[in-house]
Amino acid sequence: MTNYIATPTRTKAILNKYNFAFKKSLGQNFLIDVNILQNIIKHAGIDKQTGAIEIGPGIGALTEQLAIHASKVVAFEIDQRLLPILKDTLHDYSNIEIVHKDILKANVVEIIKENFPSNHDIHVVANLPYYITTPILMKLVRDKLPVSSITVMIQKEVAERMAAKPNTKSYGSLTIALQYYTEAEVVMTVPKSVFMPQPNVDSAILRLKLREKPPVYVEDEDFFFNMVKASFAQRRKTLQNNLKSYFKDRYDKETINVILEKSGIDGQRRGESLDMSEFAQLANTFIKRER
Ligand code: SAM
Repeated sequence: MTNYIATPTRTKAILNKYNFAFKKSLGQNFLIDVNILQNIIKHAGIDKQTGAIEIGPGIGALTEQLAIHASKVVAFEIDQRLLPILKDTLHDYSNIEIVHKDILKANVVEIIKENFPSNHDIHVVANLPYYITTPILMKLVRDKLPVSSITVMIQKEVAERMAAKPNTKSYGSLTIALQYYTEAEVVMTVPKSVFMPQPNVDSAILRLKLREKPPVYVEDEDFFFNMVKASFAQRRKTLQNNLKSYFKDRYDKETINVILEKSGIDGQRRGESLDMSEFAQLANTFIKRER
């Protein structure tokens, strides 16, 4: 059997060889199960015709599997201590580029251009550091990267929020923020036992398929996202009451009632019952009033 990095014995041997101490502050929980990695890669749609972008290669568990299955892998790692380790663990593979950068600060579009031919089918695949899952995903979708999908291991609860449907506990402003740019699906949940060290939370694999354009027309995106956030500010309050508190310095109660009526949305409903097109309709009615 091949001695892959993602096995408990090989991982322990690598950690011992380099006397590596995990940094909790960098979300370092390494994968030690090849089956899970191959599942991630299958769901991501990776094959030899596709390229992969990885965030946080760690000691190279997922990077190795990506190198085997994809045309090329470009992996962003913030922790300098991992660079010599990756050089050693991945030395058998010639199709890997490690970029020593904070993903939140990197110009990913530029780095993709430097590393892949134009029009190459590229997918982001990662076991994300959980402390910055949302900022990373929001950056990737907003930066309009030339990638077809993003498949990531993240905290189960966050994955459920990102892929939620209206009228559920998990549905909220994060759902709208992600689903405006992507079609989101939780493809599988994952036990803690596949990580070293084991995290405190359950995990899941989330697949985001990038949309060519948003599913609804929105006149002012910043206003739309702020209004959605306001609509969920206090989940038990009605939509009308949440909007009134949020806009108290801008609109009087009467104006908000008129706008709700014009949008055809009952202000007694709760934010969690509105779908994205209803939020868009409401936001556009506010904006029209400003003109
Ligand atoms: N891919 C490896 C695996 O599955 O075993 C490691 C995953 S571990 C959950 C997260 C990795 O992300 C760590 O290697 C950590 O150092 C790295 N990391 C944390 N913050 C980062 C950032 N802002 N930019 C790039 N990498 C980061």
